[in-house]
Amino acid sequence: MNDMTGAAGAALLEIDLGAIADNWRVLAASHAGDTAAVVKADAYGLGAAKVVPVLYAAGCRHFFVAQLPEALALRRLIPGAVLAVLNGLAVDEAGAFAAHGITPILSALPEIAGWRAELKRRGQSLAAMLHVDTGMARLGLSAHDLAVLRAEGDRLDGVAISHVMTHLVSADTPSDPVNARQAADFAAVCAQFPGVGTSFANSSGMFLGPGFASSLARPGAALYGVNPTPGAANPMRGVVRLTAPILQIRELSPGESVGYNGIWTAKRPSRIAVLGVGYADGWHRSLSNKAKAFFDDTEIPLVGRVSMDLTTFDVTGTKAQPGDRLELLGPHHSADALAIEAGTNGYEILTALGRRYQRRYSGA
Ligand SMILES: *Cc1c(COP(=O)(O)O)cnc(C)c1O
Repeated sequence: MNDMTGAAGAALLEIDLGAIADNWRVLAASHAGDTAAVVKADAYGLGAAKVVPVLYAAGCRHFFVAQLPEALALRRLIPGAVLAVLNGLAVDEAGAFAAHGITPILSALPEIAGWRAELKRRGQSLAAMLHVDTGMARLGLSAHDLAVLRAEGDRLDGVAISHVMTHLVSADTPSDPVNARQAADFAAVCAQFPGVGTSFANSSGMFLGPGFASSLARPGAALYGVNPTPGAANPMRGVVRLTAPILQIRELSPGESVGYNGIWTAKRPSRIAVLGVGYADGWHRSLSNKAKAFFDDTEIPLVGRVSMDLTTFDVTGTKAQPGDRLELLGPHHSADALAIEAGTNGYEILTALGRRYQRRYSGA
Protein backbone atom coordinates (compact mmCIF):
# COMPACT_ATOMS: atom_id res chain seq x y z
CA MET A 1 0.00 0.00 0.00
CA ASN A 2 2.85 2.37 0.60
CA ASP A 3 3.96 2.72 -2.96
CA MET A 4 3.84 6.37 -4.00
CA THR A 5 1.05 6.05 -6.54
CA GLY A 6 -0.43 9.11 -8.17
CA ALA A 7 0.54 12.72 -7.84
CA ALA A 8 2.35 13.48 -4.58
CA GLY A 9 -0.21 14.68 -2.08
CA ALA A 10 -3.22 13.53 -4.08
CA ALA A 11 -5.78 11.19 -2.62
CA LEU A 12 -6.42 8.26 -4.92
CA LEU A 13 -9.85 6.71 -5.45
CA GLU A 14 -9.60 3.29 -7.07
CA ILE A 15 -12.80 1.85 -8.53
CA ASP A 16 -12.99 -1.82 -9.52
CA LEU A 17 -15.36 -2.05 -12.48
CA GLY A 18 -14.87 -5.83 -12.60
CA ALA A 19 -16.26 -6.09 -9.07
CA ILE A 20 -19.30 -4.02 -10.09
CA ALA A 21 -19.92 -6.36 -13.04
CA ASP A 22 -19.48 -9.40 -10.76
CA ASN A 23 -21.94 -7.96 -8.26
CA TRP A 24 -24.49 -7.45 -11.05
CA ARG A 25 -23.98 -11.03 -12.30
CA VAL A 26 -24.49 -12.46 -8.80
CA LEU A 27 -27.70 -10.51 -8.33
CA ALA A 28 -28.92 -11.35 -11.84
CA ALA A 29 -28.35 -15.07 -11.23
CA SER A 30 -30.29 -14.97 -7.95
CA HIS A 31 -33.77 -14.70 -9.46
CA ALA A 32 -35.78 -15.60 -12.54
CA GLY A 33 -36.62 -12.11 -13.81
CA ASP A 34 -34.50 -9.42 -15.45
CA THR A 35 -32.06 -7.40 -13.39
CA ALA A 36 -31.66 -3.69 -14.03
CA ALA A 37 -28.89 -1.43 -12.78
CA VAL A 38 -29.72 1.79 -10.96
CA VAL A 39 -27.05 4.27 -12.07
CA LYS A 40 -28.56 7.52 -10.77
CA ALA A 41 -26.35 10.21 -9.23
CA ASP A 42 -23.45 9.28 -11.52
CA ALA A 43 -23.69 5.61 -10.55
CA TYR A 44 -23.74 6.46 -6.83
CA GLY A 45 -20.75 8.75 -7.29
CA LEU A 46 -18.54 6.18 -9.00
CA GLY A 47 -18.84 7.42 -12.60
CA ALA A 48 -21.83 6.35 -14.71
CA ALA A 49 -19.96 6.81 -17.99
CA LYS A 50 -17.48 4.12 -16.86
CA VAL A 51 -19.93 1.86 -15.05
CA VAL A 52 -22.74 1.71 -17.61
CA PRO A 53 -20.79 0.19 -20.56
CA VAL A 54 -19.30 -2.43 -18.23
CA LEU A 55 -22.74 -3.45 -16.98
CA TYR A 56 -24.06 -3.52 -20.54
CA ALA A 57 -21.20 -5.83 -21.51
CA ALA A 58 -22.11 -8.05 -18.54
CA GLY A 59 -25.61 -8.41 -19.98
CA CYS A 60 -27.60 -5.67 -18.27
CA ARG A 61 -30.31 -4.22 -20.55
CA HIS A 62 -32.32 -1.99 -18.16
CA PHE A 63 -30.89 1.13 -16.55
CA PHE A 64 -32.50 3.59 -14.15
CA VAL A 65 -31.49 7.18 -13.45
CA ALA A 66 -33.31 9.84 -11.41
CA GLN A 67 -33.42 12.74 -13.87
CA LEU A 68 -33.78 13.27 -17.61
CA PRO A 69 -30.38 15.01 -18.05
CA GLU A 70 -28.70 11.93 -16.55
CA ALA A 71 -30.48 9.76 -19.11
CA LEU A 72 -29.56 12.05 -22.00
CA ALA A 73 -25.90 11.90 -20.99
CA LEU A 74 -25.93 8.08 -21.02
CA ARG A 75 -28.20 7.38 -23.98
CA ARG A 76 -25.49 7.12 -26.66
CA LEU A 77 -23.42 4.70 -24.51
CA ILE A 78 -26.23 2.11 -24.46
CA PRO A 79 -28.35 2.74 -27.54
CA GLY A 80 -30.19 -0.58 -27.34
CA ALA A 81 -30.98 -0.64 -23.64
CA VAL A 82 -34.04 0.52 -21.73
CA LEU A 83 -33.12 3.74 -19.93
CA ALA A 84 -35.79 4.88 -17.47
CA VAL A 85 -36.13 8.00 -15.33
CA LEU A 86 -37.33 7.48 -11.75
CA ASN A 87 -38.35 11.04 -10.97
CA GLY A 88 -41.16 11.07 -13.50
CA LEU A 89 -42.10 13.23 -16.44
CA ALA A 90 -42.06 17.02 -16.08
CA VAL A 91 -44.53 18.97 -18.22
CA ASP A 92 -41.96 20.19 -20.74
CA GLU A 93 -39.95 16.96 -21.02
CA ALA A 94 -42.20 14.59 -23.01
CA GLY A 95 -40.69 15.59 -26.37
CA ALA A 96 -37.13 14.89 -25.21
CA PHE A 97 -38.10 11.54 -23.68
CA ALA A 98 -39.74 10.46 -26.94
CA ALA A 99 -37.02 11.83 -29.23
CA HIS A 100 -34.25 10.03 -27.35
CA GLY A 101 -36.08 6.79 -26.66
CA ILE A 102 -35.99 7.28 -22.90
CA THR A 103 -38.66 5.56 -20.82
CA PRO A 104 -40.63 7.84 -18.50
CA ILE A 105 -41.83 6.40 -15.22
CA LEU A 106 -45.26 7.96 -14.89
CA SER A 107 -46.17 8.56 -11.29
CA ALA A 108 -49.17 10.89 -11.39
CA LEU A 109 -52.29 11.28 -13.55
CA PRO A 110 -51.08 14.52 -15.22
CA GLU A 111 -47.87 12.73 -16.24
CA ILE A 112 -49.92 10.00 -17.89
CA ALA A 113 -51.95 12.66 -19.71
CA GLY A 114 -48.77 14.45 -20.80
CA TRP A 115 -47.22 11.28 -22.20
CA ARG A 116 -50.44 10.32 -23.95
CA ALA A 117 -50.63 13.75 -25.58
CA GLU A 118 -47.04 13.43 -26.81
CA LEU A 119 -47.72 9.98 -28.28
CA LYS A 120 -50.83 11.28 -30.00
CA ARG A 121 -48.84 14.16 -31.51
CA ARG A 122 -46.31 11.67 -32.81
CA GLY A 123 -48.77 9.01 -33.83
CA GLN A 124 -46.59 6.52 -31.98
CA SER A 125 -47.08 4.14 -29.08
CA LEU A 126 -43.96 4.36 -26.88
CA ALA A 127 -43.25 2.45 -23.70
CA ALA A 128 -43.60 3.92 -20.24
CA MET A 129 -43.54 2.45 -16.76
CA LEU A 130 -46.15 3.19 -14.11
CA HIS A 131 -44.98 3.96 -10.58
CA VAL A 132 -47.46 3.04 -7.87
CA ASP A 133 -47.14 4.21 -4.27
CA THR A 134 -47.54 1.43 -1.72
CA GLY A 135 -46.21 3.30 1.32
CA MET A 136 -43.32 5.60 0.51
CA ALA A 137 -45.64 8.57 0.01
CA ARG A 138 -42.95 10.08 -2.18
CA LEU A 139 -43.68 9.45 -5.85
CA GLY A 140 -46.22 7.12 -7.38
CA LEU A 141 -49.90 6.79 -8.21
CA SER A 142 -52.16 6.72 -5.15
CA ALA A 143 -54.99 4.27 -4.57
CA HIS A 144 -57.33 7.05 -5.70
CA ASP A 145 -55.37 7.55 -8.93
CA LEU A 146 -55.58 3.80 -9.63
CA ALA A 147 -59.35 3.90 -9.10
CA VAL A 148 -59.55 6.74 -11.65
CA LEU A 149 -57.57 4.67 -14.15
CA ARG A 150 -59.92 1.71 -13.58
CA ALA A 151 -63.00 3.86 -14.08
CA GLU A 152 -61.64 5.78 -17.07
CA GLY A 153 -59.80 3.18 -19.09
CA ASP A 154 -59.10 5.53 -22.01
CA ARG A 155 -56.60 7.49 -19.91
CA LEU A 156 -54.01 4.87 -20.84
CA ASP A 157 -54.99 4.52 -24.49
CA GLY A 158 -51.89 4.33 -26.67
CA VAL A 159 -49.55 4.12 -23.67
CA ALA A 160 -47.52 0.90 -23.89
CA ILE A 161 -46.93 0.07 -20.24
CA SER A 162 -43.87 -2.16 -19.98
CA HIS A 163 -43.75 -2.39 -16.18
CA VAL A 164 -45.69 -1.43 -13.10
CA MET A 165 -43.30 -0.60 -10.28
CA THR A 166 -43.30 0.26 -6.61
CA HIS A 167 -40.58 0.94 -4.05
CA LEU A 168 -40.00 -0.63 -0.65
CA VAL A 169 -40.01 1.47 2.52
CA SER A 170 -37.86 -0.76 4.76
CA ALA A 171 -36.20 -3.39 2.59
CA ASP A 172 -33.04 -3.13 4.73
CA THR A 173 -35.07 -4.22 7.79
CA PRO A 174 -36.47 -7.69 7.01
CA SER A 175 -38.40 -7.83 10.29
CA ASP A 176 -40.43 -4.71 9.46
CA PRO A 177 -44.03 -5.82 8.75
CA VAL A 178 -44.39 -3.05 6.18
CA ASN A 179 -42.51 -5.28 3.71
CA ALA A 180 -45.16 -8.00 3.59
CA ARG A 181 -47.92 -5.38 3.55
CA GLN A 182 -46.35 -3.72 0.49
CA ALA A 183 -45.89 -7.08 -1.24
CA ALA A 184 -49.61 -7.84 -0.81
CA ASP A 185 -50.69 -4.37 -1.95
CA PHE A 186 -48.37 -4.48 -4.96
CA ALA A 187 -49.70 -7.89 -5.99
CA ALA A 188 -53.23 -6.45 -5.92
CA VAL A 189 -52.14 -3.48 -8.06
CA CYS A 190 -50.40 -5.74 -10.57
CA ALA A 191 -53.61 -7.76 -10.95
CA GLN A 192 -55.14 -4.56 -12.35
CA PHE A 193 -52.56 -4.70 -15.18
CA PRO A 194 -52.58 -8.29 -16.48
CA GLY A 195 -49.73 -9.20 -18.80
CA VAL A 196 -47.67 -6.15 -17.83
CA GLY A 197 -44.16 -6.55 -16.36
CA THR A 198 -43.57 -5.84 -12.68
CA SER A 199 -40.64 -4.14 -10.92
CA PHE A 200 -40.36 -4.35 -7.15
CA ALA A 201 -37.12 -5.04 -5.28
CA ASN A 202 -34.17 -2.69 -4.80
CA SER A 203 -30.86 -4.18 -3.58
CA SER A 204 -32.05 -5.18 -0.13
CA GLY A 205 -35.45 -6.25 -1.46
CA MET A 206 -33.69 -8.90 -3.56
CA PHE A 207 -32.69 -10.60 -0.29
CA LEU A 208 -36.18 -10.60 1.29
CA GLY A 209 -37.36 -13.83 -0.32
CA PRO A 210 -39.60 -15.04 -3.13
CA GLY A 211 -42.51 -12.76 -2.17
CA PHE A 212 -40.43 -9.84 -3.41
CA ALA A 213 -39.58 -11.23 -6.84
CA SER A 214 -40.73 -9.38 -9.96
CA SER A 215 -39.94 -9.39 -13.64
CA LEU A 216 -37.42 -6.54 -13.21
CA ALA A 217 -35.35 -6.06 -10.03
CA ARG A 218 -33.78 -2.61 -9.52
CA PRO A 219 -30.56 -2.91 -7.50
CA GLY A 220 -28.29 0.09 -7.07
CA ALA A 221 -26.20 0.18 -3.90
CA ALA A 222 -25.34 -3.54 -3.87
CA LEU A 223 -23.69 -3.20 -7.29
CA TYR A 224 -21.30 -0.72 -5.73
CA GLY A 225 -20.45 -2.94 -2.77
CA VAL A 226 -22.81 -1.52 -0.13
CA ASN A 227 -24.12 -4.35 2.06
CA PRO A 228 -27.75 -5.08 1.09
CA THR A 229 -28.15 -7.26 4.20
CA PRO A 230 -27.15 -4.99 7.11
CA GLY A 231 -26.48 -7.06 10.20
CA ALA A 232 -25.30 -10.06 8.17
CA ALA A 233 -22.10 -10.62 6.22
CA ASN A 234 -21.87 -8.59 3.02
CA PRO A 235 -22.57 -10.89 0.05
CA MET A 236 -21.21 -8.33 -2.44
CA ARG A 237 -17.65 -7.65 -3.55
CA GLY A 238 -15.97 -4.43 -2.40
CA VAL A 239 -15.60 -1.87 -5.20
CA VAL A 240 -13.80 1.22 -3.90
CA ARG A 241 -10.46 1.92 -2.28
CA LEU A 242 -9.51 5.42 -1.15
CA THR A 243 -5.99 6.13 0.01
CA ALA A 244 -4.20 9.39 0.75
CA PRO A 245 -0.56 10.13 1.45
CA ILE A 246 0.66 11.66 4.68
CA LEU A 247 1.62 15.27 3.95
CA GLN A 248 3.44 15.86 7.25
CA ILE A 249 3.90 14.26 10.65
CA ARG A 250 3.64 16.57 13.69
CA GLU A 251 5.16 15.67 17.03
CA LEU A 252 2.86 16.68 19.91
CA SER A 253 3.68 16.79 23.60
CA PRO A 254 1.11 15.75 26.22
CA GLY A 255 -1.43 18.56 26.68
CA GLU A 256 -1.11 19.91 23.12
CA SER A 257 -4.24 19.81 20.98
CA VAL A 258 -4.81 19.44 17.25
CA GLY A 259 -7.06 21.25 14.75
CA TYR A 260 -10.05 23.59 15.03
CA ASN A 261 -11.39 24.12 18.55
CA GLY A 262 -8.78 21.75 19.95
CA ILE A 263 -11.29 18.94 20.40
CA TRP A 264 -8.52 16.33 20.79
CA THR A 265 -5.58 16.69 23.15
CA ALA A 266 -2.52 14.45 23.27
CA LYS A 267 -2.26 12.41 26.47
CA ARG A 268 1.18 11.07 25.59
CA PRO A 269 3.95 12.13 23.20
CA SER A 270 2.12 11.71 19.90
CA ARG A 271 2.84 11.57 16.19
CA ILE A 272 0.03 13.17 14.18
CA ALA A 273 -0.26 12.44 10.45
CA VAL A 274 -1.82 15.17 8.32
CA LEU A 275 -3.75 14.05 5.20
CA GLY A 276 -4.99 16.30 2.40
CA VAL A 277 -8.61 15.12 2.54
CA GLY A 278 -11.47 17.01 4.18
CA TYR A 279 -15.18 17.59 4.22
CA ALA A 280 -15.00 19.31 0.82
CA ASP A 281 -14.06 15.86 -0.49
CA GLY A 282 -17.05 14.15 1.12
CA TRP A 283 -14.89 13.08 4.05
CA HIS A 284 -17.65 14.16 6.38
CA ARG A 285 -17.05 16.60 9.24
CA SER A 286 -19.15 14.30 11.43
CA LEU A 287 -16.16 11.90 11.32
CA SER A 288 -14.28 14.27 13.65
CA ASN A 289 -12.72 12.26 16.52
CA LYS A 290 -14.66 9.20 15.25
CA ALA A 291 -13.32 7.57 12.10
CA LYS A 292 -10.44 5.26 11.60
CA ALA A 293 -8.01 4.60 8.80
CA PHE A 294 -5.50 1.83 8.22
CA PHE A 295 -1.73 1.89 7.83
CA ASP A 296 -1.17 -1.51 6.26
CA ASP A 297 -3.11 -3.69 8.74
CA THR A 298 -2.85 -1.29 11.69
CA GLU A 299 -5.93 0.65 12.72
CA ILE A 300 -5.28 4.39 13.05
CA PRO A 301 -7.71 6.73 14.86
CA LEU A 302 -8.81 10.03 13.32
CA VAL A 303 -8.14 12.73 15.91
CA GLY A 304 -9.50 16.26 16.10
CA ARG A 305 -11.84 18.10 13.78
CA VAL A 306 -12.08 17.20 10.10
CA SER A 307 -11.51 20.47 8.25
CA MET A 308 -12.32 21.40 4.65
CA ASP A 309 -9.11 20.10 3.08
CA LEU A 310 -7.19 18.37 5.87
CA THR A 311 -7.67 15.59 8.41
CA THR A 312 -5.37 14.41 11.21
CA PHE A 313 -4.68 10.87 12.42
CA ASP A 314 -2.78 9.57 15.43
CA VAL A 315 0.00 7.34 14.05
CA THR A 316 1.88 7.13 17.35
CA GLY A 317 3.67 3.79 17.66
CA THR A 318 3.69 3.08 13.92
CA LYS A 319 6.48 3.50 11.40
CA ALA A 320 4.33 5.76 9.20
CA GLN A 321 6.31 8.50 7.45
CA PRO A 322 5.40 11.44 5.20
CA GLY A 323 4.49 10.06 1.77
CA ASP A 324 3.14 6.79 3.17
CA ARG A 325 -0.52 6.17 2.35
CA LEU A 326 -3.34 5.54 4.77
CA GLU A 327 -6.35 3.53 3.60
CA LEU A 328 -9.50 5.57 4.25
CA LEU A 329 -11.87 3.22 2.43
CA GLY A 330 -11.18 -0.24 1.12
CA PRO A 331 -10.80 -3.85 2.20
CA HIS A 332 -10.05 -2.88 5.83
CA HIS A 333 -12.71 -0.18 6.04
CA SER A 334 -15.87 -0.47 3.96
CA ALA A 335 -18.22 2.34 3.00
CA ASP A 336 -20.69 0.79 5.45
CA ALA A 337 -18.14 0.90 8.29
CA LEU A 338 -17.24 4.51 7.52
CA ALA A 339 -20.95 5.36 7.35
CA ILE A 340 -21.48 4.14 10.92
CA GLU A 341 -18.63 6.39 12.07
CA ALA A 342 -20.14 9.35 10.17
CA GLY A 343 -23.71 8.72 11.34
CA THR A 344 -24.99 8.10 7.82
CA ASN A 345 -25.33 5.21 5.36
CA GLY A 346 -23.04 3.76 2.71
CA TYR A 347 -25.10 5.42 -0.02
CA GLU A 348 -24.26 8.89 1.27
CA ILE A 349 -20.59 7.98 1.66
CA LEU A 350 -20.38 6.91 -2.00
CA THR A 351 -22.44 9.71 -3.53
CA ALA A 352 -20.40 12.30 -1.60
CA LEU A 353 -17.00 11.02 -2.79
CA GLY A 354 -15.05 14.07 -3.81
CA ARG A 355 -14.32 15.45 -7.24
CA ARG A 356 -10.74 16.30 -6.18
CA TYR A 357 -9.69 12.71 -5.79
CA GLN A 358 -7.55 11.27 -8.54
CA ARG A 359 -9.63 8.41 -9.94
CA ARG A 360 -8.28 5.16 -11.28
CA TYR A 361 -10.52 2.51 -12.84
CA SER A 362 -9.57 -1.14 -13.14
CA GLY A 363 -11.20 -4.36 -14.28
CA ALA A 364 -12.91 -3.14 -17.47
C1 LIG B 1 -32.50 4.40 -5.74
C2 LIG B 1 -33.65 3.52 -6.08
C3 LIG B 1 -33.44 2.14 -6.28
C4 LIG B 1 -32.12 1.46 -5.97
O1 LIG B 1 -32.08 1.28 -4.57
P1 LIG B 1 -30.83 0.57 -3.85
O2 LIG B 1 -31.24 0.51 -2.43
O3 LIG B 1 -29.65 1.44 -4.09
O4 LIG B 1 -30.67 -0.77 -4.47
C5 LIG B 1 -34.50 1.38 -6.74
N1 LIG B 1 -35.72 1.95 -6.95
C6 LIG B 1 -35.97 3.26 -6.73
C7 LIG B 1 -37.33 3.80 -6.96
C8 LIG B 1 -34.94 4.08 -6.27
O5 LIG B 1 -35.18 5.37 -6.02
